[in-house]
Amino acid sequence: MIRKKLIAGNWKMNKSSAEAVTLAKDIVEAIGRETSVDIVLCPPFTALESVGRVLEGQSVKLGAQNVHPEKSGAFTGEVSAEMLRGLFTTHVIVGHSERRSYFGETDAFINKKVLTSLANQLKPILCVGETLVEREGGTTLAVVQRHVEGGLLGVTKEQITTVIIAYEPVWAIGTGKVASTEQAQEVHAYIRDLLTKLYGAPLAQKVRILYGGSMKPANAPELLAQKDIDGGLIGGAALESRSFVDLVKSAVAAG
Ligand code: PEP
Repeated sequence: MIRKKLIAGNWKMNKSSAEAVTLAKDIVEAIGRETSVDIVLCPPFTALESVGRVLEGQSVKLGAQNVHPEKSGAFTGEVSAEMLRGLFTTHVIVGHSERRSYFGETDAFINKKVLTSLANQLKPILCVGETLVEREGGTTLAVVQRHVEGGLLGVTKEQITTVIIAYEPVWAIGTGKVASTEQAQEVHAYIRDLLTKLYGAPLAQKVRILYGGSMKPANAPELLAQKDIDGGLIGGAALESRSFVDLVKSAVAAG
């Protein structure tokens, strides 16, 4: 197996600290020792510390949903990579489409977050993907290329295998509309080709590319069976332990 599958839960702006602890405990009880798949929980900032305590000694990892590129200073409301590391965070989501659209994040700004994360030993989960208008306008691959190349600017050959890419078609996020396996595999293969051009085949083969967008236990097995789909970034289905645990089990079964 070249690439270990990875299932990450993006809890977005949901769960109080106490609710997050309950959910994390339920997940850990069911799959806390699973090592054949990487599992990452990304609670809101306010629950990172409490969830981190639940994950101590378990194989499940802690992820944040955002990071600011600067080390410290006058950036009200922001959190640095160093602060996240201090809470034993290992992963961080960057460039989620909700941050791109609601908070105006550009590829250049997202690229700074990727570089800061890597410099601080945080594994970035770089989200890329087209809107419905872009898909219908036939520009899906061009948009994905811009997001991938823009996000990875300055990422070295030594660093690239610690980056995780999440292909998330915006029209499939939280809508119940999942990309067909063919649509998803086509874009994943395209991303792998881009990585091959940038870093060479041996390294490109090691980078994990997750699918995100209404992934659920019912559609996961088919998606996870695709050659270039190495796991999932899960929103809605990660908010309930049963569906998240089932998704992890699908990933275990898919190898
Ligand atoms: C996400 O926001 O990253 C996501 C994939 O959400 P959902 O699973 O709810 O579509």
